[in-house]
Amino acid sequence: MAKKTRKFKAEVSQVLSLVINSLYSNKEIFLRELVSNASDALDKLRFETLSAPDLMAGDTSLKVRVLVDEDKGTVTIWDNGIGMSEEDLITLLGTVAHSGSKGFMEAMAENAKTDDMNIIGQFGVGFYSSFLVADRVEVISKKAGSDEAYKWSSNAQDNFTVEPTERESRGTSVILHVKEAQNEFVNPFRLKTLITQYSDFVGYPIEMLKAAYGEEGEAIESEEFEQINKAEALWKRSPSSIEEEQYTEFYKHLTHDWEPPIANTHFTLEGKQLFTGLLYIPSRPPFDLFDPDAKHGVRLYVKRVFIMENAEELVPRWLRFIRGIIDSEDLPLNVSREILQDSKLVKTIRKQVTKKAVELLTEVSIEKPEDYKEIWKNYGTVIKEGLHFDPDQKDKLAELLRFESSTQSDPSSLAAYIERMPEEQESIFYALGASRALLEGSPHLEMLKKKNFEVLYLTDSIDQWAIETLKEFDGKMLVDAVKGDFNLDGEDTEEEKVENETLKPLTEKFKTLLEEQVSEVRLSHRLADSPACLVTPEGGMAAHIERMLRAQNHAMPEQKRILELNPKHPLIDAIQKISTDDKNEKVQEWVELIYDQALLAEGSPIANPGLFAKRITGLMQQVATSQLS
Ligand code: ADP
Repeated sequence: MAKKTRKFKAEVSQVLSLVINSLYSNKEIFLRELVSNASDALDKLRFETLSAPDLMAGDTSLKVRVLVDEDKGTVTIWDNGIGMSEEDLITLLGTVAHSGSKGFMEAMAENAKTDDMNIIGQFGVGFYSSFLVADRVEVISKKAGSDEAYKWSSNAQDNFTVEPTERESRGTSVILHVKEAQNEFVNPFRLKTLITQYSDFVGYPIEMLKAAYGEEGEAIESEEFEQINKAEALWKRSPSSIEEEQYTEFYKHLTHDWEPPIANTHFTLEGKQLFTGLLYIPSRPPFDLFDPDAKHGVRLYVKRVFIMENAEELVPRWLRFIRGIIDSEDLPLNVSREILQDSKLVKTIRKQVTKKAVELLTEVSIEKPEDYKEIWKNYGTVIKEGLHFDPDQKDKLAELLRFESSTQSDPSSLAAYIERMPEEQESIFYALGASRALLEGSPHLEMLKKKNFEVLYLTDSIDQWAIETLKEFDGKMLVDAVKGDFNLDGEDTEEEKVENETLKPLTEKFKTLLEEQVSEVRLSHRLADSPACLVTPEGGMAAHIERMLRAQNHAMPEQKRILELNPKHPLIDAIQKISTDDKNEKVQEWVELIYDQALLAEGSPIANPGLFAKRITGLMQQVATSQLS
């Protein structure tokens, strides 16, 4: 069959130029990426042979080789792994093969001009990093179990070719024709250093030709290979023997992330289940953190044999930002996704993994508060889901929560809030709202602020749900300042009882006039300076959440709220006096204005903004002209 020229998928050309332009000062990563692909190919072969032992075909010593030809100016990364068929070469190397290719393109389109590196780090560059150092790349591959070999070749322009070729045995060779300017990499010593630096822990031997010298000390050709790396799974080493740097390199190998992780934990659990875990918290969230279809989970090994990527069953969804590996001694090698779903062993593992991840978060929050701030910023919303889904972890998670408040612009813990509480304050107060600015102007919090009671500002849409699951912290009730009956002094005083009686006709009047809009009108204990506010009934939903759900087309029953009036406000007092005169037609207008103002103050839309504006203009005109006369 003849050589066929094909065009790259459009996005590949974009990725290629992005890779070349943004990683130019980090060219050496090509080696880590290609060795990582080779080691994945060996993992895949080993996994396939569990059910088809013939694929090994006598060639059982799985390895990666890095070969240098100084005369030709090439570096070859060779493996005897799973290999690629003609079809594989076309589809895997002709498209952006990363699992999130679509998201990648979207994120790139959005971000292209601002922060290329950032985006690349989120997705990893993989095979295309070859073009950082090579102007032509050939991939010769023979799929395990097949007799046919194919050669893929490209010079990073718009197209590539695929043609039949020969290869002795199964596996893949990536041949880099190194650019003149990057000649430094066509050097065995340089490559050797890079391998020990970046790929020491790759679980297979990485071999290079042993340097040999003649009697005069001159270099002579050798056919003997030597192993460059330790080839020991990193996670099987004792943590005390591992440098932080090595954990980081392993993370990059595993995830293709560009940035080092923000924290990691490495543990071996004995007892009912024997397994080792190495978990990482990436410094940046993945682009699809809130995509319900996004894959998550850790890489699963059984007795050091790679089984699968994204083993979701081993990590709860609310820890979906965690990356890493789990290596179990007890799961069967032929474990499938179906088995994982019902396995009791898996549930035990997940429980322990959850516990370890929460311990890691706790440790960072105590020992490295600045790092934890970053973690909270990136993953706080996701961590809050855990309050609901992992009741076992509720207490620990409560300690990890961070919120802004009326006195703190930096998110602060509930424990720190309690420390700041004045002696007479008994509960923890919070308010749900769409933004800090709205909450700052919220009339509902006036009385609390007057008393110097701090109010937590809950602006995340998941907060209502999270906080209601929590209910209390350290023996203190969590109280919604915008909801339900609210009296900081407990019982009504004698004076208030009198007020209630005097203002009863007025509240009745409001009730009649606003019958359609509100469920109840009553006197307020939470207002200081404003005449009125709207309150969510006990068990109801915050106004902004209700609006948000409705905007997302959720069928929502109409929720009527409670209008509270400030009995101490001169305007209320005045209206009460006037309203006894039934013929005063202004009263209805003012009642409606007060209601509209209450809506505006909490950030809700009003039904008739035109009418509202007209009425305000009328009032202003009255006052202004009366000043003239
Ligand atoms: P990624 O590794 O992130 O999926 P790459 O662009 O690095 O993306 O590689 C694309 C795909 O090509 C891989 O997923 C794999 O299927 C295949 N591939 C790359 N290198 C090899 C190799 N040495 N042996 C077998 N398959 C490979």
